[in-house]
Amino acid sequence: MKILVLNCGSSSLKYQLIDSETENVLAKGLCERIGVDGRLKHEVPGMDKMTFDLDFPNHTPAIQAVIDALTNAEYGVIKEIGEIDAVGHRVAHGGEKFTKSAIITEEVLDAIKECIELAPLHNPANIAGIEVCEQLMPGVPQVAVFDTAFHQTMPEKAYLYAIPYKYYEKYGIRKYGFHGTSHKYVAQECANLMDMPIEELKIITCHLGNGASICAVRNGISIDTSMGFTPLDGIAMGTRSGSIDPSVPLFLMRKEGLSIDEVDNILNKQSGVLGLSGVSSDFRDIENAEAEGNSRATVALETFAYRVAKTIGEYVATMKGVDAIVFTAGLGENSGPTRQVVCDYLRYLGIRLDSYKNSLRGQAMEITTKQSRVQVFVIPTNEELMIARDTKDLVLAK
Ligand code: AMP
Repeated sequence: MKILVLNCGSSSLKYQLIDSETENVLAKGLCERIGVDGRLKHEVPGMDKMTFDLDFPNHTPAIQAVIDALTNAEYGVIKEIGEIDAVGHRVAHGGEKFTKSAIITEEVLDAIKECIELAPLHNPANIAGIEVCEQLMPGVPQVAVFDTAFHQTMPEKAYLYAIPYKYYEKYGIRKYGFHGTSHKYVAQECANLMDMPIEELKIITCHLGNGASICAVRNGISIDTSMGFTPLDGIAMGTRSGSIDPSVPLFLMRKEGLSIDEVDNILNKQSGVLGLSGVSSDFRDIENAEAEGNSRATVALETFAYRVAKTIGEYVATMKGVDAIVFTAGLGENSGPTRQVVCDYLRYLGIRLDSYKNSLRGQAMEITTKQSRVQVFVIPTNEELMIARDTKDLVLAK
């Protein structure tokens, strides 16, 4: 099957066309500046990358441009739109309704719409993508793969906040967790590398990118994760604060006369390692600044690694042990120094990093020595492949 995987954001859209038999990516790309002007970046293995300036007033012409690129006589990879057998959509929030991926029907779409309140920036874009595909590819099965679904196995004691229970009942205020597709994928890959059934393992997966979250995966299911009601919670990130004393925003609002939107912007866009370092949200820039002696860059990196290690420690406690720890996403896959600092905190667990393996990049592998009591892995995440797999399974089971 040829599966088009779409990840629609409010002003951008990432796509991959995947052959589900070989799991090869036939083409991939990105539509940017939707609602502003429009640019399409299209990549086909073995060809130079292409960029086209186009007009994308909304998602409809953007998805049409993706289809045109995929079917183009010169740089396309399929002859006609009919060769796309199914579309898999990344959907940000499935609330409590979705514990796994779902074939999109009218009821499913309505349920995704009901979750808009929980993800006001993301779900509307995902819905737009689904509706445009229904128009442009009528009859082609579509599947929704939710960022929250993997975490729906968390027990009440992990997902409830200690605020009046009525707010959970009234508004669904609870921990949902995000990056579920990534955590699920790398946990499964980890079990494969260990040659052990995932049902017998305690794994802590660390998705460390611009957004970052950590997940406790026991016997193959998520039992806790660091992001919460929104993706603002948990460890510090590129620009997001992560967990702070809930009184801080109230204090700031009173002291500086800030509005709700201003505080929202500070916590989501101006905090994290950007806010601490004053340098950048990109860890590469901060690592360079540290090398040049910038002490706030050092504080930002130390704070980040400290909080990652602390959260891993929490999950060792809640799972009553750990067999493996996985690092993934931009920083987790590429920053040996960050993994080193985090693992230094965890020496008490008997973790022993192999410094040569920790310096390598780009492949899934163990980075601990034979003597290490807990195995640590770097595993490149692949959310698109996971979405294609779920889409294929659901469409075949239909
Ligand atoms: P992601 O959100 O998964 O795409 O991750 C993006 C982030 O990964 C970037 O903002 C960088 O901070 C980080 N990153 C990517 N490559 C490296 C690298 N070689 N060293 C340190 N950080 C990196």
